[in-house]
Amino acid sequence: TLRSNPHFATLPAYNAGLSDAEASRLSGGKRLVRLASNENPYGPSPAAITELQRIAAEAWRYPEGRSDTLRRAIADHHGVDEDRIVVGNGSETLIAALSRAFLQPGAGVLTVTPGFGLHEIEPLAEGADVTKVPMTGALEFDIGRLTEAMDEAPRLVFLSSPSNPVGTTLSRDALHRLLAAVRPGTLFVFDEAYAEFRRDEDAFDSLALATEAGVDFVTLRTFSKAHGLAGLRIGYGVASSAAIAQFMRLALTPFNVNVAAQNAAVAALHDEAWMRASVGRIRAERDRMAAALRERGLWVARSEANFVFFDTGRDSAPLAAALLREGVIVKPWGEAGYTTFMRVTAGRPEDTDAFLAAFDSARVAAG
Ligand code: PMP
Repeated sequence: TLRSNPHFATLPAYNAGLSDAEASRLSGGKRLVRLASNENPYGPSPAAITELQRIAAEAWRYPEGRSDTLRRAIADHHGVDEDRIVVGNGSETLIAALSRAFLQPGAGVLTVTPGFGLHEIEPLAEGADVTKVPMTGALEFDIGRLTEAMDEAPRLVFLSSPSNPVGTTLSRDALHRLLAAVRPGTLFVFDEAYAEFRRDEDAFDSLALATEAGVDFVTLRTFSKAHGLAGLRIGYGVASSAAIAQFMRLALTPFNVNVAAQNAAVAALHDEAWMRASVGRIRAERDRMAAALRERGLWVARSEANFVFFDTGRDSAPLAAALLREGVIVKPWGEAGYTTFMRVTAGRPEDTDAFLAAFDSARVAAG
């Protein structure tokens, strides 16, 4: 009989969404409005598109194995040594690499619920024991319970800020308190996939703060969201030390990131103006969508990401199915305790309009 890695027998599958064909069938061929994956419909910088066209003719060559050119650009961007940068085929790959490099059966991992699926799934794949601290009633990070859990010296801590799915952030003071509670032997992973969407007044340099605290630390970033390159799969980590970065690299396949992704990412990083402009438009739609839902009497989390997370007041799965029949794809939350919640990506103004119209008719139909 075929035997898998024993930890795979009970491993939950990540919900990567519907294929175009499935969505098309379920919506009866309606025009699709994709608001389930936190993509950026404004797309990448035109400079990245030009680079993709140019690089197509060089597809016969292997990419740079360590993404040296891109690593240098990222190192400049953050003002750190390039030895501390690791690039991966999507930051999801780096979550897997961290788990593969630092965990083993029985190792402790700390994260939160509701939270990002892979912060749990990748550690479970290595046989780790995952502790999930619930967010508070107001869906904020529970700093008291998290600092207490830190006393157990988990091998890895995974926190996303802005949080997926809630959108809330750790304040500078809260992160400072968490970092102060890190015990020797813990590597603190701060997943900043949505960092660019933070309100300017709430933004701070987590890397500088962690460096000051002197803890083992990795910040994860991605080109999938603010930079509009989700389809190319590219993300990176900035580690507190070259040694941590090197362990992550050992856990990755040698040519993990393709040449198109590497080159487009360099171009995207250099066109900050394009990224800022699309982030500005998306933030405005996020706030408009949140306000419109609050006007309907619903509880909406304060989001600093490119989505809103709100309580529909009923089981959100049938509502999401009704929205899909209108062609609007959203994410009903499946985690225990949060199944009345729904996460909806903020995109163009017409996306918000389509969502609100479909949501209103779905609610009327559901009675
Ligand atoms: N971290 C968080 C918190 C995310 O929400 C996502 C994407 N949904 C990722 C990591 C992975 O992003 P990617 O692999 O596209 O870089």
